[in-house]
Amino acid sequence: MCGIVAYIGPKDATAFLLEGLQRLEYRGYDSAGVAVTGKPGTLKVCKTKGRVADLAAAVPARFKGTTGIGHTRWATHGEPSDANAHPHLDNSERIAVVHNGIIENADALRDRLTAEGAVFRSETDTEVLAHLVAAHVGEGVELEDAVRAALGHVVGTYGIAVVDAAQPDRIVVARNGSPIVLGLGEKEMFVASDVAALVRYTRQVVHLEDGELATVRADGFTTFTEDARTVTRQPSTVDWEIASYDTAGYEHFLLKEIHEQPASVERTLSGRLDERFATAHLGGLNLDARELREIRRVKILGCGSAYYAGEMGAQLIEELARIPAHSEPASEFRYRNPVIEADTLYVAVSQSGETYDTLAAVQEIKRKGGRVLGVVNTVGSAIARECDGGIYLHAGPEISVASTKAFTSTVIAFALLALHFGRIHDLSPADGRRIVAGLKALPDQIREILAGEDKIAELAAEYAQSEGMMFIGRVRGFPVAREGAQKLKEISYVHAEAYPASELKHGPLALINPDLPTVALVPDDELLDKNLTTLGEIKARAGRVLAIAHRAPDAKLADHAILVPRSEPELDPLLLNIPLQLLAYHAAVALKRDVDKPRNLAKSVTVE
Ligand code: GLU
Repeated sequence: MCGIVAYIGPKDATAFLLEGLQRLEYRGYDSAGVAVTGKPGTLKVCKTKGRVADLAAAVPARFKGTTGIGHTRWATHGEPSDANAHPHLDNSERIAVVHNGIIENADALRDRLTAEGAVFRSETDTEVLAHLVAAHVGEGVELEDAVRAALGHVVGTYGIAVVDAAQPDRIVVARNGSPIVLGLGEKEMFVASDVAALVRYTRQVVHLEDGELATVRADGFTTFTEDARTVTRQPSTVDWEIASYDTAGYEHFLLKEIHEQPASVERTLSGRLDERFATAHLGGLNLDARELREIRRVKILGCGSAYYAGEMGAQLIEELARIPAHSEPASEFRYRNPVIEADTLYVAVSQSGETYDTLAAVQEIKRKGGRVLGVVNTVGSAIARECDGGIYLHAGPEISVASTKAFTSTVIAFALLALHFGRIHDLSPADGRRIVAGLKALPDQIREILAGEDKIAELAAEYAQSEGMMFIGRVRGFPVAREGAQKLKEISYVHAEAYPASELKHGPLALINPDLPTVALVPDDELLDKNLTTLGEIKARAGRVLAIAHRAPDAKLADHAILVPRSEPELDPLLLNIPLQLLAYHAAVALKRDVDKPRNLAKSVTVE
């Protein structure tokens, strides 16, 4: 689930491996390691718990090789430790393996291999792969055949890279549920689990499909399936700017990505608004107006922030198109034997397009004959390829683990879909124009909110000292509250809970005290009076209130207010969310957290 890099060519592999691993650090990890070979029979390995910088310091000066693999680990089987870090070796120290994902039948394989004489040196599921490959790689056997045979015994998800000290002229890689990308150089080849590690070296890449393997040599590659059929893969060109992978003077990627939102929103909207017909053009839906009219329900699936963005999306679709819409965690949906209906449109949301739970949900829907659209940021990713059509966010690479600009662009994508749907149904041209104008105004309005960052930072430092925080909102405001609480939790580790404001008095009001402040979403909409009443109830219990509002509530009702510009009521949630991103960010900074790489988390969750 974390990072894989590999190199083969005339240069020293270690330099690329360490630099590549550094590029993947943003994904969150707990240990790192490299293995290199070159002269047949030599295999050098260095691995350590901790950061890539610790690994770089531990690598000996004479650690050279022309063929190498590297890994950052996000532990699933066994604690983070030097022994559990990848690469893992077989007992003759000939085979080295790095692996992202989970081997589900690792226990059974471990018992069998142990009975056959293998001695295990780690608690990981991955180590079985090294022993399995070794068991197949006898005299005269090509490494790719040994890897293929080994994978025949394996149940689970993997992206792997394997080297054999006896065959240093190749690296064998395989993919099943965890991404592997080949990077094509001049007489050298690169491999990574994420293009972020490659863009400095090459723009020509090949994405492996699930069930595929590749043999990578300095002068080229061949791809084939698990049953040894050769497949031809044409390279594609990565068009993201290299600069997207730098902090560009910001202290953290997260802050940079928050500030990129006026531009990323513009990109998501670009070429998609039609003022003449007061609608949106979405080229990739692959559904004509007649097919769209037959849709009776929309079901949105995502995990984490993608799920909350889906909740905002569902609200937009119901309001603008009057089609029942609902968002559900993809991770739950896939396991509950869902009823798939022909007149329901399923929409899968994933920034990376590789989220395993969401991909599995898409596959379940498709297996049952349902129709799925993808709302995805990464072009050509697994979910994008699997869906029948979709909307690309064009938000640019999102590096920080916590999602901000991709979240906002996802909601924009839903606003466009809702507008398009609405105008096919009963949304009037006047209302369509109102939404088009509202969307166009968003980038400047986001700029205006970002200009108020200093005040938000001050408030964040103050509120970060609390024992926890409550986030409340009504109807449109509730998904904002959920996403706000999620953002605070994941990067500052301050406990936060989101409730519909209307539900407060049915339970959580019991928690209110001066140490548990409430962040309240209070837009100036038809529910304003109800929200103000709730604030009164909190204040009556000595609770502190930070209101995110269009107009500052009376000082008796809120201790502080952060004001946001008014959009169209349906689009207000997008703007109300922006100060909550800054609030979470500055709370995390005040508490000295590792903002871009929060503990225990990883960027794209490609394991179950
Ligand atoms: N399951 C493997 C382990 O725990 C790989 C984890 C990863 O994807 O980084 O070591």
